[in-house]
Amino acid sequence: MNFFDSLIRDVSLLTEKLPYKDFSCSDELWQDVGYSQVILQRDTAFELGGTGFNLVTSEPVSDGITLIGDDLDSIGDNRKFARVSLVQIEDEQDQQKAYNLIRKIEYVKYHHFPEGYMIRTSSRSHKEAVRVAKSAIKKGITFRKIGSLLINKYKENPAVKGVRVIYITAEDADYGKLEALAQKNNTITETLNHVMNSVKFDCDSCNLKPVCDEIEGMKELHFKSAAMREM
Ligand code: SF4
Repeated sequence: MNFFDSLIRDVSLLTEKLPYKDFSCSDELWQDVGYSQVILQRDTAFELGGTGFNLVTSEPVSDGITLIGDDLDSIGDNRKFARVSLVQIEDEQDQQKAYNLIRKIEYVKYHHFPEGYMIRTSSRSHKEAVRVAKSAIKKGITFRKIGSLLINKYKENPAVKGVRVIYITAEDADYGKLEALAQKNNTITETLNHVMNSVKFDCDSCNLKPVCDEIEGMKELHFKSAAMREM
């Protein structure tokens, strides 16, 4: 599965000049409370607003967390942020299985609940807003700890081989371009949904043609998938 590899390269180009820190996964996992929390304004240290998205690949990804910008314990007030999870899956030749896997990986973002870190996101959007509790700051929350928790969640699926979670809080990061990449990721995912579920194969009248013209292998996949469904 390599439909998202060009976006991985774009994220790398966009961030390569910014100072960063790499962390291995922490043994000291932050607690997952297991349900969606409500953190009231009066209990909030600060809010992060921006973008969160996954980029799935079958190219190698080493486990760990990359932080570009300040860590949670040194952010004083509200600011923009982005989370990008690079997720390596096994090189699945069966495209239906690979597609199902991408969908399962997407569910992870709704099923992890770090204590004192309230995430608001939706299935139809790449927006991700976070409210961080004062109590979590006192307890020592860091991106390494919550990133390690998130990596563990992805890896509950044995087909996930490697995960790198990139958190960006640097004030000079280009959040507009990151959001544009997240939007493109959504468009490719929606095209993939269409390709895997629609038997209608008429490129001349299809509004997804620009994506299929750009992303190698997408047209062939629709041709194969439509033919299989009509058999
Ligand atoms: S392969 Fe053709 S019909 Fe299928 S989604 Fe792409 S442009 Fe549309």
